[in-house]
Amino acid sequence: MTSSKKKKIYFYGFILVFLIILFIVISFSYFITYQNVNITTTKSKPQIPINDENNPPKEDNQEPERSEYEITANLRNQEYYLERNYQRYLDYAQKYPQKSYKDVVTEVNCNIDKEFYTNTEASNLETGTLILVNKFYTLNNNYVPELVEMDSQYSHASTKKMHPEAYDNLVKMINAALLDNIILYDVSSYRSYQTQDTLYNNYVKRDGASAADRYSARPGSSEHQTGLATDLNTASSKAHFENSKEFAWLNNNAHKFGFILRYPKDKEYLTGYKFEPWHYRYVGVEVATYIKEHDITYEEYYAYFIVSK
Ligand SMILES: [Zn+2]
Repeated sequence: MTSSKKKKIYFYGFILVFLIILFIVISFSYFITYQNVNITTTKSKPQIPINDENNPPKEDNQEPERSEYEITANLRNQEYYLERNYQRYLDYAQKYPQKSYKDVVTEVNCNIDKEFYTNTEASNLETGTLILVNKFYTLNNNYVPELVEMDSQYSHASTKKMHPEAYDNLVKMINAALLDNIILYDVSSYRSYQTQDTLYNNYVKRDGASAADRYSARPGSSEHQTGLATDLNTASSKAHFENSKEFAWLNNNAHKFGFILRYPKDKEYLTGYKFEPWHYRYVGVEVATYIKEHDITYEEYYAYFIVSK
């Protein structure tokens, strides 16, 4: 064997050994990487059932599924996040992946993950003038608040009764408005459970239950039973009170007297009621100012600040 042949054998032998080592190294590193990916994905992602009619497989162009870790981190960043609602936020976020984290927190805080008039509980009477009465928090048929008689100068209603603190502030507000040539007067304040019962049932007979539920409360769910609410000047959508100078004045000044617009425009899904530009609720100056400045509903305020965390 010549020395050049020997050299060739050594050379090819060396190349062969090098390729074998290279192959082993690449295979091993690929194996390690693949294993790690497998571990992390199975740990953080929930199992997606295959061939389930309710969970069709995702299309390639859809957003990747959000991990529970990612959802949790985003939820906890929200201004009105409440730890006690964590599991409900999570369920709601996974049920409606298109909703923003802010909306998930807001809606669950307002119990919108439940149907109106289901999961109801008694309104907390100890909260005084901060009581919440709506389609989830209700009053008994025998609940009557502390009431005073209203002067006919301030109320044109057939029953002129209101909670004393709310009435004092309503009088101050009506007098202040008058100085600006704005005429305000109550057309409906306190209504008993029985009055609301008659009213609601008449609406149901006229428009049907689902329509009536959008603008009238079922007995026990009306804020008017607290004596803390007032309908000003009108109680009809047809009057378009929202276009009046009286409404503009209230929009700028009601909070200074402790009143809030209770059923704002575009918040029906949270409050359960259509826009009522005439319905004002007394909550005190501090709370009314906060709600006005932060543009939130009373449901949102109550969940975050009144119900103990
Ligand atoms: Zn009202």
